Amino acid sequence: MEFSSQTKKTVFYIIVAFFFSIAMRLVWVYHFSGYESFFHNGQFMINTNDGYYWAEGARDIVRGVVENPDAKEYLQKLHQPHDLSPTTSAAAVLTAFFVKLLPFSFETVIFYLPAFLSSLVVIPIILIAKKFDNLEMGLIAALLGSIAWSYYNRTMVGYYDTDMLNIVLPMLLLWSIIWAIDTNQDRYLLFTALDILAYRWWYPQSYSLEFAFFGLILAYTLVFDRKNTYNYKLMAIMLFAMMNLDAFVRLGVVVGVFVWFKKQELSLKALYGLLGVAFTAFLVSGGFDPIWGQLKNYVFRDTLSKADQGLGLHFFTVMQTVREAGKIPFETFANRISGHVVVFLISLVGYAFLLYKHRVMLFSLPLLGLGFLAYVGGLRFTIYAVPVLALGLAFLIVEIAKRLPTRKLQILFATAATLAALYPNYRHIDAYRVPTVFSAGEVRSLVELGGMANREDYVVAWWDYGYPIRYYADVKTLIDGGKHSGADNFPVSFILTHPQDVAAKMARLDVEFTEKTYDFIDKHKKAIEDKNITVFSTIEQMTKAYGFDDTNDFLDALQTDIKLPKKTRDVYLYLPYRMLQIYPTVALFSNIDLMTGKRKKRPFFYVTSRFQETPTQINLGNGIVLDKQDGMLSIGKNRMPLRRFVSAKYDSSMHYRVKEQMGSLKSPLTLIYLASYHTFVLLDEASYNSLYVQAALLDRYDKNYFEKVIDTPEVKILKLKI
Ligand code: MN
Repeated sequence: MEFSSQTKKTVFYIIVAFFFSIAMRLVWVYHFSGYESFFHNGQFMINTNDGYYWAEGARDIVRGVVENPDAKEYLQKLHQPHDLSPTTSAAAVLTAFFVKLLPFSFETVIFYLPAFLSSLVVIPIILIAKKFDNLEMGLIAALLGSIAWSYYNRTMVGYYDTDMLNIVLPMLLLWSIIWAIDTNQDRYLLFTALDILAYRWWYPQSYSLEFAFFGLILAYTLVFDRKNTYNYKLMAIMLFAMMNLDAFVRLGVVVGVFVWFKKQELSLKALYGLLGVAFTAFLVSGGFDPIWGQLKNYVFRDTLSKADQGLGLHFFTVMQTVREAGKIPFETFANRISGHVVVFLISLVGYAFLLYKHRVMLFSLPLLGLGFLAYVGGLRFTIYAVPVLALGLAFLIVEIAKRLPTRKLQILFATAATLAALYPNYRHIDAYRVPTVFSAGEVRSLVELGGMANREDYVVAWWDYGYPIRYYADVKTLIDGGKHSGADNFPVSFILTHPQDVAAKMARLDVEFTEKTYDFIDKHKKAIEDKNITVFSTIEQMTKAYGFDDTNDFLDALQTDIKLPKKTRDVYLYLPYRMLQIYPTVALFSNIDLMTGKRKKRPFFYVTSRFQETPTQINLGNGIVLDKQDGMLSIGKNRMPLRRFVSAKYDSSMHYRVKEQMGSLKSPLTLIYLASYHTFVLLDEASYNSLYVQAALLDRYDKNYFEKVIDTPEVKILKLKI
């Protein structure tokens, strides 16, 4: 077979851009190559929390295949009921496939997979440019688009998340739509439909972009190209691919329809009919459900259901603490899309020029629109605008170069302009040295915990640690990166920030009620969906189970000798030192009166490792100074004694030594000096008495309720005795 020089050049440019994209992602690897605490099992650990979710699913699939080659039982035995392992998710399935296929370790696959898959974005970029016989524009756009700021951030090595294909797939869709509309070749009907299938499989929220593309094609057809039978075929096959049915059913329908198109010439009238059928099938199968579901959430939020309304508890919501959803400054927005404000603005000009010269590029508007949504909707959307604006800039560079007199000047200008646009992005990559989620020490403790705990046991920990704990220890958790509503967080926050006796009881209660709730949901699936039954929070269930109708009374009753539910499994508490930094945030979720929704007084909790010591005083920053001579504390203009001063450190034989000096009982504040961590903590009495401070910082766990099973400077793990 002979390849045209165009084809050879296309392949060559794709290879160049692909390896450039990989090479840029290896800068992080180079920076941290000797950094032991980022390694586990001889490989770098990942640097995104959510990645551990997909990793858990992939691990269970891989392990299931080894342990249960019997195909029938395989799916049930992959993981434990209610452990939330995503064994059917696309990311987990694809990862397991690569782990089986490639000769690399599981850790190696999940660490490098984002770099390789996300770099595939250069293919649709270059193929789109090929449509305009402008491969140089494709190369320049691919170089920039594959490594631009936010795309890099969300697809770097170790950023193991669905983002690794979230731009590749819609860009392939754009490529196939552009070629379909422009060439009317049959194969693009199939490519478009298959890409929708793949995109929906990979990222179920993809429907919004699919709808947008479909809407544009519909508008284009009605306005410019009403008589063209091809457009109706394209829309019909897209609708079949977008039905709300099992992916294999849709695949069958799509392939069937395509074969029929190939075999039989259809009249315009017949195609109207087919489009009607496709639209009906789309509607009846519930194709609009995802969008309708979102609308319902907004419009009918307060509609009364037939079910019991319960106590109407008021929980603190995570949205109140998440910053991502906020509005972002223009400069950040521009940087994240193009690397620099100037590059961004020139790219916009180039993009407008590109739209003007090649009208078919109007089909890229949904991607740009979704990217610009970041300006109001949150940072993570910017990546959608990256490749289309890269195409805009590349087009402008080539257009300017073309107007220069000599070939030499043209190449010189194009190279210089491309390097100038790449430079701020390279600077960002070089400076963006994000750490791994966990340290090697923490992971060793979790692996050790996994060895002693059963796969049905629970580990109580703040939600930030949920996915990694499940991945490394294969246990269950109460909350994680996806399950952290105010209602889910309340009991865990309560456990970590309250005295050990009530914390222990709440730990047992919440674990048992959580499992009971899952069983209840399994049993009443239909009634719950129809809103005939409400699933109440575990805390509300406990309140009622103990005969209270006021949650505050129930929480008070925890201090008495209440009868706990039957123990069905072991419970562990994961108390990492790093939680010290987020203790006030953790406390927010239980520092609220659930009956009224009123926030209680904020705990006083001040942590610093930046302090200055002189012979007479210790300056803790923020206007807080300790007088070493008389032990008095100044906060701004107030002077007060300390309630107690506690110092803790590891001695030379790594025993943890805690010394306590009492001050004035009238004072509310205690100062803790964690010498081994070079850190001071100034805190009120309630915080001082909390399980976290007592057990994790001072090693004073209550032996009536807990047994210490793991103790390292980075994390303490307790086992619940009740
Ligand atoms: Mn499991």
